Amino acid sequence: AHLDRIAAVDGDLHAFLDVDADAVLATAADVDRRRAAGERLGALAGVPIAVKDNIATKGQVTTAGSRILEGWVPPYDATVVERLRAADLVILGKTNLDEFAMGSSTEHSAYGPTRNPWDLDRVPGGSGGGSAAAVAAYEAPFALGTDTGGSIRQPAALTGTVGVKPTYGGVSRYGALALASSLDQIGPAARTVLDAALLHDVIGGHDPRDATSIVGEWPSFADAARSGREDGAVDGLRIGVPREITEGSGFEAGVLERFNESIELLTQRGAVVVPIDTPHFEYAVAAYYLIMPAEASSNLARYDSVRYGLRVEAGGNVERVMAATRAQGFGDEAKRRILLGTYALSTGYYDAYYGSAQKVRTLVQRDFGDALGKVDVLAAPTSPTVAFRIGERTDDPTSMYVADITTIPANLAGVPGISVPAGLSDGLPVGMQFMAGVREDARLYTVAAALE
Ligand code: GLN
Repeated sequence: AHLDRIAAVDGDLHAFLDVDADAVLATAADVDRRRAAGERLGALAGVPIAVKDNIATKGQVTTAGSRILEGWVPPYDATVVERLRAADLVILGKTNLDEFAMGSSTEHSAYGPTRNPWDLDRVPGGSGGGSAAAVAAYEAPFALGTDTGGSIRQPAALTGTVGVKPTYGGVSRYGALALASSLDQIGPAARTVLDAALLHDVIGGHDPRDATSIVGEWPSFADAARSGREDGAVDGLRIGVPREITEGSGFEAGVLERFNESIELLTQRGAVVVPIDTPHFEYAVAAYYLIMPAEASSNLARYDSVRYGLRVEAGGNVERVMAATRAQGFGDEAKRRILLGTYALSTGYYDAYYGSAQKVRTLVQRDFGDALGKVDVLAAPTSPTVAFRIGERTDDPTSMYVADITTIPANLAGVPGISVPAGLSDGLPVGMQFMAGVREDARLYTVAAALE
């Protein structure tokens, strides 16, 4: 049924970069056969899932939305993909993204944009617009995304779906094509909070192959989501609303209205709203757009025309081959960030740019620490606007960057965040985001499920 749905709508949406229908049917048939034989199957046996194309899938092309990796077939599975297979999920295919997950609209994919199922003239958000659009359009019930500065949560908000950035270290990054290693997290996309929680239970937990993976047990996120549906689930819960965010300009009126209504719903059910100060959040975007390109410029140095993917034979020496390959293989946004990052890290500028940004990062972490001493969760709109039109922001990179204002703080601090639908504004979805302390992902599932 999902393959039929993809065949029917993906010509318009372009959520998928690759679907191997034969492999999908073979895996599904195998699950059916084992079920009929009475075998004990995995937790989500037979459920189809889409995987963002910057996550390695053994034997299936993985491009990260870039020409430089066109046709690259990974010889190994990411840990999360291994866990999907072990739980008997069926991988439907690979989804579109901004090149190397750099962007907020999926327009920076080398393979063309993905469209928002709510309005085909609008973006589905980014960088994980393909995963979010696939889930929103019923092409897949589940998807995986990566979130470095909002790429799971913001597309969820713009497509009326649920997206989760887990605590940094909560889900293995082994096999995720690195963008900014201190910020990247893999996480679930789904249509309901419980679905996202079920998927998180499958992919999460310690992995010795990721040096930043947290050691220790996690509670059942599915149980946490289920408890959110019970009476009294949010009774006495203290919700912090950052003054700077709600009083700041730049939020569409319709977005703030849906946000306030959601808060009102939670207070009717016993939650308590506490206005809090997060004085350094306003500098988070500036700090992020130095730290993230700095790390990206280092991570992308591995695409050197020798080890992976594209190689343009320019003649002469190895430097000319590398230069020609990168000139042709990387798109404009990737080049922009490599230049920015290399500059920020260069001798003489390092302290002024990268060093200052790291100090701001610490201040943002302290804001979270101070706030979460007083409240249980923080709430904010996931995105200042609803889905914007395709082409509207492509000529002005900074207008695209500032839209990440409410998602970036969680990445800088390593804390978890969830985006859950909060109704419509002018017929387009609005997302509500909750954030909590490190390792408190379960609480987010409870609060978000209470709102659902
Ligand atoms: N929009 C952010 C950026 O362009 C988010 C990227 C991400 O989370 N992968 O960097």
